[in-house]
Amino acid sequence: MRPLTVLGVTGSIGRQTLEVAAHLGLEVAAIAASRPSPDLLSMARAHPGATVVVAGTESDATFSSALGDRVRFGTGALEALAAEPDRIVVNAVVGSAGLAPSVAALRAGNRLALANKESLVSGGPVVQQALADGGGELIPVDSEHSALWQCLLGEPVDAVHRLILTASGGPFRGRSTEELQHVTVEQALDHPTWSMGPRITIDSATLVNKAFEVIEAHLLFGVSYDKIEVVVHPQSVVHSVVEFVDGSQKAQLGDPDMRKPIQFAITAPERRPIGEPAYELAGLTLTFETPDRDAFPALDLGYAAGRAGGSAPAVFNAADEVAVEAFLKKRIRFADIPRVLEQTLESIEVRALESVEDVYEVDGEARDVAGGMVAATSG
Ligand code: MG
Repeated sequence: MRPLTVLGVTGSIGRQTLEVAAHLGLEVAAIAASRPSPDLLSMARAHPGATVVVAGTESDATFSSALGDRVRFGTGALEALAAEPDRIVVNAVVGSAGLAPSVAALRAGNRLALANKESLVSGGPVVQQALADGGGELIPVDSEHSALWQCLLGEPVDAVHRLILTASGGPFRGRSTEELQHVTVEQALDHPTWSMGPRITIDSATLVNKAFEVIEAHLLFGVSYDKIEVVVHPQSVVHSVVEFVDGSQKAQLGDPDMRKPIQFAITAPERRPIGEPAYELAGLTLTFETPDRDAFPALDLGYAAGRAGGSAPAVFNAADEVAVEAFLKKRIRFADIPRVLEQTLESIEVRALESVEDVYEVDGEARDVAGGMVAATSG
């Protein structure tokens, strides 16, 4: 198997990727993070053959003296690293900074194991073009898309009747629109099944995260939005389902352990043994329900942005990042988040995206507009 490049190595997915690499006995050829942290330095020492990139700074004396010429700095170095050929690039960068390395990896013909949401949500058309031009492979790491990918192995896409993405429903499942007016930051951060960073936890509470996943599924599998559905499944055991034209449904199940989809993105379509594969079904109760689209309007806003295409999903994402940050700082209420998204989407005309620069430009514009909406809302 090709050596690994792990981008965003100090985050949760990055760390688990190193565990998977150790388990598989894979060479880690390069690691990258945004900041020169003590964590990154100890990872660099644990992988003495790996190139190290610190993307968010142009120099660091400690890193340079500790690592010599195997450390490089800056976003240009991050892109160059992703473009080194014959690699499996795991992109677990958080935020829109993940787009440029995704495009670089695909243009170089690498396998991209993608855990960075913004690459497809914001830069979908650009990433698809890079995939077509470079002849690389794009394999999702996210549990739902990994599930769909696995269910679709050996199946022609025209045999698909529906993709059914499962959603945990987040901490506010079952609450009414009225009840959601008064929920707190602390309540929103208390996710029932998955332990994740603050932004994705809030995105899970608003169903924005599921809207992102709908957009990603459309781009990954070429299935129209009319054929992508969301079902709330609080136990998060069924990671997603594909329904075929003959009425048969295939689901992928497992415990909420991200090492499994990470490993599959690296080894696919092969499967490699994992330490303790047993997952007991006996005793499980699995339930499924329709999402409450009135209480969680962000889901339909995401579908609308996806259908509008071009720059609209990038606007949706950027506005959400601004709105979530404002909510976490208690400047706006939970119920204001979808309002900021809707108003920002309405304010910016949809245009085509042809380059990474186009995406960053619309991202900046949407942040400004959303920032204005937040200021107006928080008075
Ligand atoms: Mg997910």
